Amino acid sequence: MKIDVISLFPEMFDGPFGHSIIKRACDSDILNIHVTNPRDFALDKHKIVDDSPFGGGSGMVMKPDPLFYAVEHCKQHALTANRRIILTSPGGATFTQHKAKELAQFDQLIILCGHYEGIDDRIREHVIDESISIGDYVLTGGELPAMVIVDSVARMLPGVLGADDAAQHDSFYNGLLEYPQYTRPREFKGWEVPEVLLSGDHAKIDRWRRKQSLRITLECRPDLLQYKELSKEDAKLIAEILSESNGS
Ligand code: SAM
Repeated sequence: MKIDVISLFPEMFDGPFGHSIIKRACDSDILNIHVTNPRDFALDKHKIVDDSPFGGGSGMVMKPDPLFYAVEHCKQHALTANRRIILTSPGGATFTQHKAKELAQFDQLIILCGHYEGIDDRIREHVIDESISIGDYVLTGGELPAMVIVDSVARMLPGVLGADDAAQHDSFYNGLLEYPQYTRPREFKGWEVPEVLLSGDHAKIDRWRRKQSLRITLECRPDLLQYKELSKEDAKLIAEILSESNGS
């Protein structure tokens, strides 16, 4: 997958994209990330990329022309029509695991990072396919949201995680939070790991994990269960969880 990020601060991406899983994905050509600076597409000799808002008010707005030409340039990086052009914006739809899975199906993502008061809205209206917010708060720029989007989309690409089904056990993938995990030592400061995980009985372990997943989701994010279709086995496990908590 080709990911083009458009940002006034390309150097901000060196750390997050230069380490660990994302770096390995780039080194093995599963992912090809490129950061383009819209300043390189400013038409005047001072390379101005922002200006004061029409109608008055505080702050600066990113000019449309450098952004437009930066996007056009990025389109030439991938000869495909299967692309999505995304604006990072507090006003966008909230980013989810489902959206990460959906975006992983494209051949190219072009992600625009706003700065200052944001971008000239004509770019959103005429160039952008969708706007994405990473939460109901305002950051100084779209760089951190772009990193979040790239990281979570990358994990969905085949070959990026060690085992191809690794992401399927993660929280949100199937609408539940993940079960608790433990590793050696078996006992630390008198704190034991659950006995069932040492039993070697994989059917029992699977059932325990599913029940823990349902229990944690019920406790921490009951909203996730609201629209989830539950199997008969899940309904039975939830009944067990509820009767155990009523008994305690
Ligand atoms: N004036 C804008 C508003 O009130 O909606 C906020 C602009 S913000 C200071 C500058 C840029 O940061 C935005 O254009 C956007 O690219 C990015 N940004 C800030 N918060 C964000 C969020 N929660 N999700 C996605 N992008 C965000």
